[in-house]
Amino acid sequence: MALFRSDAVFRRITDIDFEYLKENNINTLLLDVDNTLSTHHGTILVDGLVEWLEVIQDKGIKLIVVSNSKRWRIEPFAGRIGLPFVSLACKPLPFGYHKGIKKLGADKKRTAIIGDQIFTDVLGANLYGIKSLLVRPVKLEDGWTFKVRRYFEKKMLKDKF
Ligand SMILES: [Mg+2]
Repeated sequence: MALFRSDAVFRRITDIDFEYLKENNINTLLLDVDNTLSTHHGTILVDGLVEWLEVIQDKGIKLIVVSNSKRWRIEPFAGRIGLPFVSLACKPLPFGYHKGIKKLGADKKRTAIIGDQIFTDVLGANLYGIKSLLVRPVKLEDGWTFKVRRYFEKKMLKDKF
């Protein structure tokens, strides 16, 4: 169904490059948090996210975090990556998207949401009439659990010696 269809699908947010945005006339991105920028309720940023944000912003793309999560979680998260935010966005309802676009003074026609959920991020975009770029959810995957394990291994070894 068209309401559940995103304009494009990417594996990770960091796979979306400026060329793609330029070709598709997108100059503003609304960013979902959970499983898009970090693990669900996590604080670990997606690998390469900070660099990606820097490059994209350097190219003049406007960014804002738009999340259904509460302010106490989203405010510090957005602060960490230096972005404005809308919390309690109530996606798939259009209010949060509208608020985000207004906050940036952005052009709705040139705005896309990047998110991992069809029933919130994508559906909301289609109801509101903006583009949506779906990313595969970030889960604790082998690479990450591996890193965490390594971290604790290191710590334990340090305490021992
Ligand atoms: Mg999400």
